[in-house]
Amino acid sequence: MKIYNTLSKMKEEFVPLEEGKVKMYVCGPTVYNYIHIGNARPIVVFDTVRRYLISKGYDVQFVSNFTDVDDKIIKKANEEGVTSKEISERYIKEFEKDTKGLNILPATKHPKATEEIDGMIEMIEELIKKGHAYEKNGTVYFRTRSFPEYGKLSKKNIDDLEAGARISVSDEKEDPMDFVLWKPKKEGEPAWVSPWCEGRPGWHIECSVMSKKYLGEQIDIHAGGEDLVFPHHENEIAQTECCTDKQFAKYWMHNAFLNVDNKKMSKSVGNFFTVREISEEFDLSVLRFFLLSVHYRSPINFSREIMEASKNGLERIQTAVEQLKFLINVKKQDGGAETVMTEEEKEIVKEFEVLHQKFETVMDDDFNTADAITAIFEMVKIANTKLSAANSTDMLQAALDHITILADILGIVTEKKEEILDEEVEKLIADRQAARKNKDFALADEIRNKLLDMGIVLEDTREGVKWKRA
Ligand code: AMP
Ligand code: ZN
Repeated sequence: MKIYNTLSKMKEEFVPLEEGKVKMYVCGPTVYNYIHIGNARPIVVFDTVRRYLISKGYDVQFVSNFTDVDDKIIKKANEEGVTSKEISERYIKEFEKDTKGLNILPATKHPKATEEIDGMIEMIEELIKKGHAYEKNGTVYFRTRSFPEYGKLSKKNIDDLEAGARISVSDEKEDPMDFVLWKPKKEGEPAWVSPWCEGRPGWHIECSVMSKKYLGEQIDIHAGGEDLVFPHHENEIAQTECCTDKQFAKYWMHNAFLNVDNKKMSKSVGNFFTVREISEEFDLSVLRFFLLSVHYRSPINFSREIMEASKNGLERIQTAVEQLKFLINVKKQDGGAETVMTEEEKEIVKEFEVLHQKFETVMDDDFNTADAITAIFEMVKIANTKLSAANSTDMLQAALDHITILADILGIVTEKKEEILDEEVEKLIADRQAARKNKDFALADEIRNKLLDMGIVLEDTREGVKWKRA
């Protein structure tokens, strides 16, 4: 299997540090708002990478952080007159709802920056001790020139960077390229006691610390969007490698950006969409399918037309799966279903096997999900044109298994979302009320969650239970 490594700018054979195991860290969101459809790209792409590695038999440890202390969170908290913690907790919950809709596997560990401050102070102390960092008036800076390999990920030269850097007269840094590890608190900001001042960490140190704590000094894959290559990942490398004297991550993976109607997505242009907004128009399984329809290192263009086409494509797969399941059930109910395959059927099974192999070959080539989806479509075409109730159950089951196994590797939902009628909702709500009356709160919660899965949100009001379609 080959992975394109930003560090070498080449596709490299994937050899994990430890046989059979993969340690993977993906930079997570700053939780001050709903995630937008651009943020959904790395989330879906690296979840798919993880799923594919699992399908190949690796034991994958997947860590992704929440940046829950940041200027943007503080600004939003001040605007709303609430604490930063209220803002970050609110949007972590919303993140969890969106990622559930996108069929993302929960991380092995999802650490929050504010709960890892002690580790950050420790790493900063270590860097100071080794001469890689220094303190000036309460602020701690990383001494960038103390790391000769600085720039190795982004292929930037420190002298060029410095020539282009703005130098302010009041700058207390030793060098314009030095960056902040710890900064003093300003009025109204959350702060923690440290050896230097009451303050808070810089952004880059978070990931170095959380990755080291939960995955160890060296990891296999570190990933994020391409905007993170510089300075975020470059700085993470400098911090971690100066601290441990070992190579940090073996493979650095970066997804290209999502554009909207061929333009950069931006609030001011008015082409900015949150995942939540899109979920009102399309099921999020469609958004996932769309995001995988283009190779992750190519830009992807979002538009209503493309989403409609993705919806149709996904439905084509779901309909074929539904039809195969239906045929198998009918034949089983009929009793005497023919299970032994004919010679002709064995040839068809071979076609499925060839396509299955093709799926693996293209996924082995730096996770080419676009071609992987094509292989699934080709299977669907065979199922639609060559299979019917006249086939043996073994043949139908083999076709169903090939399609569903591959779809599952991509996290593609093959079951059509059940449409629930108003009367059915009312009936379930009545059942839930009865369960609550009987103090069977477990059942009541179960019914609520079942409705939530079907996109029905309940609200307990003084006038009784109200519901709406999410
Ligand atoms: P942020 O919250 O801005 O730090 O972004 C979280 C993640 O989303 C990072 O990995 C970014 O690289 C990624 N990201 C942000 N905008 C886009 C976009 N338009 N397309 C693809 N990825 C994006
Ligand atoms: Zn990071």
